[in-house]
Amino acid sequence: MSQAFVIDGKAIAARVRADVAADVQRLKREHGLTPGLAVVLVGEDPASKVYVRNKAQQTVEVGMQSFEHKLPAETSEATLLDLVRKLNNDPSVHGILVQMPLPKHIDSVKVLESVDPVKDVDGFHPINVGRLCTGERALVACTPVGSVILAKSYQHDLRGLDAVVIGRSNIVGKPMAQLLIREDCTVTIAHSKTRDLPGVVRRADLVVAAIGRPEFVRGDWIKPGALVIDVGINRVTGPDGKSRLVGDVAYEEAVKVAGAITPVPGGVGPMTIACLLKNTVEAAQMQRGIPAKAA
Ligand code: NDP
Repeated sequence: MSQAFVIDGKAIAARVRADVAADVQRLKREHGLTPGLAVVLVGEDPASKVYVRNKAQQTVEVGMQSFEHKLPAETSEATLLDLVRKLNNDPSVHGILVQMPLPKHIDSVKVLESVDPVKDVDGFHPINVGRLCTGERALVACTPVGSVILAKSYQHDLRGLDAVVIGRSNIVGKPMAQLLIREDCTVTIAHSKTRDLPGVVRRADLVVAAIGRPEFVRGDWIKPGALVIDVGINRVTGPDGKSRLVGDVAYEEAVKVAGAITPVPGGVGPMTIACLLKNTVEAAQMQRGIPAKAA
């Protein structure tokens, strides 16, 4: 039986980072500009600490400046908003990322909306969401951007494909659907109230799963030859008692039917930080009025 082409997210993320590093060198040389990324972490969430460390390390590796702000869990909303205001006004900071989740006493929406839209490298600010929808130059959420790069690495031209995005979150599903509309796909957004989800998925040439449920999409839902992008990251415990990561797609089943598929781990995951760095370069260029293709 034929097996799907396995899209190597680690290798493609390394390529994106190499492109970013080249862009950074060019911005330094031609514009005297060193892009800077500020990451703000409030509290002691262990997973968030690891993300923030990885982000800072990769930021430095591509030649950008990294500014880390670690605040205690009891930090007040006013103090956090004050820090964001300072970063908004700091010319050496081109991108600001406030690591989610924030402690419960802080209004996350208020904080995200306080970030200057031209420094909003997460692409969560309503101004950037709006610009994505209207097709203007925007900073777009990193995971969907990375997912599109992976899809296009296998099939450069997505025009006319029937695409199904399962999940309608603001950070993955909705921006993903918008990006696929930009790529001229015919897009269906499915969610927990969708009727006959297997039937909907069976019609799709391109399936994006962003659900947060381990191995939810079964192999017999996949149209033969379809392109499958699995955004899900779920930790499960196997029969041997060991924990491992799985996606939202039943990989072992789907790999026998799909034309191409992203694995978990090693698919979409590595793309997210790479695209954060790419967004920081784009943010720096926007702030200097440098056209997107110049770097
Ligand atoms: P959310 O929980 O915010 O959204 C999940 C979506 O899935 C919702 O729209 C929900 O529908 C839908 N859904 C839930 N159950 C079903 C069901 N039974 N049938 C159909 N749809 C369903 O999750 P996120 O978007 O934040 O994340 C999704 C996954 O992607 C997670 O596994 C997360 O870990 C992963 N992720 C990976 C990243 C990466 O870097 N690779 C980054 C971000 C997320 P409804 O709206 O109706 O409730």
